Amino acid sequence: MRVDEVMQIFRETGALLEGHFVLSSGLHSSVYLQCALVLQHPRLAERLGGAIAEGFKPEAISLVASPAIGGIVIGHEVARALGARFIWTERENGVMTLRRGFSVSAHEKVLVVEDVVTTGGSTRETIEALQRAEANVIGAASIIDRSAGAANVGVPRTALATLNVQSVAGGECELCRAGVAVTKPGSRKT
Ligand SMILES: [Zn+2]
Repeated sequence: MRVDEVMQIFRETGALLEGHFVLSSGLHSSVYLQCALVLQHPRLAERLGGAIAEGFKPEAISLVASPAIGGIVIGHEVARALGARFIWTERENGVMTLRRGFSVSAHEKVLVVEDVVTTGGSTRETIEALQRAEANVIGAASIIDRSAGAANVGVPRTALATLNVQSVAGGECELCRAGVAVTKPGSRKT
């Protein structure tokens, strides 16, 4: 799937917002991607998941794992396309963990999938949780990479679309300096 096709899906579903936002990472940006607005449409989720899976078909992946909540829908669709099992990780006392009876086999080939990579933090924590269980994490993927390719998660990483949009700490934010009101769209009630 081409980058412009991915971005077209985000525009058409209202998932691409422009303004002044605090991201879940705490960084400020002029662009916010609300992937849930894309992924609320199962057929779009299936299409994007299929496109991510395409590059990993030769790898014989038996398990896809995603950080909850954001990664669950897209990870599930990637797993469906690969014919793999799907599990998710979640934080317990601040540490990303396998809960709900989920387990991995030693050396099992795993792909970690997230919706959006900003700093790579959630993906990295999920990879660490899997590695503690001796899984063989062969790669990571997301629909969007908004780190301009910079996020390093310790394994090879791909994305359907890589954005070169700056995310900066509040203290370095030009929009803050200009007095533009900031919103945290992830927590906005509608
Ligand atoms: Zn700001």
